[in-house]
Amino acid sequence: MRRISIFGATGSIGESTFDLVRHREDIRTVALTGGRNVARLAQMARELRAEVAVTAYDECLPELREALAGSGVDAAGGREAIVEAADRPADWIMSAIVGAAGLLPGLRALRHGTTLALANKESLVTAGPLLMATAAASGATILPVDSEHSGIFQCLAGSSSSGIERAIITASGGPFREWTAERMANATLAEAVAHPSWAMGQRISIDSASMFNKALEVIETREFFDIEPARIEVLVHPQSIVHAMVGFADGGLLAHLGPADMRHAIGFALNWPDRRHVPVDRLDLARIGALEFRAPDDMRFPALRLAREVMDMRGLHGAVLNAAKEIALDHFIAGRIAFPHMAVMVEKTLQQAAGDPFFGQPATRLEDIEEADARARRWATTQAEG
Ligand code: NDP
Repeated sequence: MRRISIFGATGSIGESTFDLVRHREDIRTVALTGGRNVARLAQMARELRAEVAVTAYDECLPELREALAGSGVDAAGGREAIVEAADRPADWIMSAIVGAAGLLPGLRALRHGTTLALANKESLVTAGPLLMATAAASGATILPVDSEHSGIFQCLAGSSSSGIERAIITASGGPFREWTAERMANATLAEAVAHPSWAMGQRISIDSASMFNKALEVIETREFFDIEPARIEVLVHPQSIVHAMVGFADGGLLAHLGPADMRHAIGFALNWPDRRHVPVDRLDLARIGALEFRAPDDMRFPALRLAREVMDMRGLHGAVLNAAKEIALDHFIAGRIAFPHMAVMVEKTLQQAAGDPFFGQPATRLEDIEEADARARRWATTQAEG
C-alpha cells in the first residue's frame, strides 16, 4: 500500500490528482491540504478517508472541524500545520500549493526522504539550489509535474542531462498571443484568465497570459536539470501538443507529445517508474493535422527577458522575481494596475535588488531566501502604491 499526501488538494492540480487516486485501491491517503475552500477539502478527505485535512488559515479551522465531524478524519489549521502535515510518513507527496507558500512543506517532505511530485514551480525558482541539495542529502526523488519538465524528464528516459545540447520548452502563447501591445494595455482580468488550451487555476492562467509562467519554467528547467541558460529555448506552439523537446550532440531531437491535460504529467509522476493507464484523451494527429512553432515576442512579453537576466545574476534573484511577480499579480487581480504594468513592477524590483550584494548570495539558506522574498514583496508593494 502506498501512502500519499496532496498539498493544495482543492486546486486545479489537486483536483486532477484526486481524480487519479480516488479509485486506486493500492493507495492510502495521509494528508490533504487546502486553503479557503473548506467544504471541498472536507468532501475530498471523507472520500479518500485521509488521516488529516489541513486548511492553511486558522480562521477556517472551525468550519473544517464541523464539516469533518464524525468522519474519523483529523482537522488542523494554520501555516505551521500545513508544514507539519509533511512530517506524517508518506511515500509520495504532490506539491500543488500555489506560490511561494508551497516551498516549506516541500522542503520538509524532502528532508524526510519522501518522493516529491513537484507542480509548485515557485519552489525551484526561489530556492532551486536548496531544494536540490536537500533532496540529494536525504536521497529523496523529485519528479517534475509541470508538463514541459515532465516532457524533458520523459525524453531523457532516466539518462543524465549532461549530454543535452539544448532543451526546448513550448508555450501556447496564452490568450494574448495575437494581441497588439496597445490592446494588451487594456486587457481585463476575465480576458487574462481565459486560457486557449489549458484549464488551470486563476493565478497560473494569468501568468500564462503574461508569459511569466514560461519565465518561471525557464528558470525551473535550469534548476531542475542543471542546464546552462543558453541551452534552454522557448518556442510558441499554439496547439499545446508538443510540451518539450530535448536536443542531443548528434543533432537528434526527441519530443514529448501529449494532450493538454495535466492528468498525463501527474499520472506519470504518480506511477513512476512504471507506466500505467491514465484516463486522458489519446491524440489523433491526423485530425490535428499541423503543428506550428514560432519564436516568442520578447517586446510584448518582457517576462522571458527578465528570466534570462535572473539566470545570469543567479543568487537570490529568482526569489525576487517570484515575489515581485506574486505582488504584481495580486494588484492586477484587484484591478489596481494594468496588465503590462506587472512586468514593469517586476523589472523595477529586480533592478532595486541588483544593486544590493545581499541578493548575490547563493539560494542555499532558507533564512536568506525568506528575507529576499520579504524584501522584494515590500519593494513591489511600495511601487504599486507609489
Ligand atoms: P490553484 O489556484 O487552482 O490551487 C492552489 C491550491 O493551493 C489550492 O488548494 C489552494 O487552496 C491552495 N492555497 C492557496 N494559497 C495557499 C496558501 N497560502 N497556503 C496553503 N495553500 C494555499 O492552483 P493550480 O492548481 O493551478 O497550481 C498549483 C501549482 O501548480 C502552482 O505552483 C502552479 O504554478 C503549478 N502548476 C499548475 C498547473 C495547472 O495546470 N494548473 C500546471 C503546471 C504547474 P483553496 O483553493 O482551498 O484556497
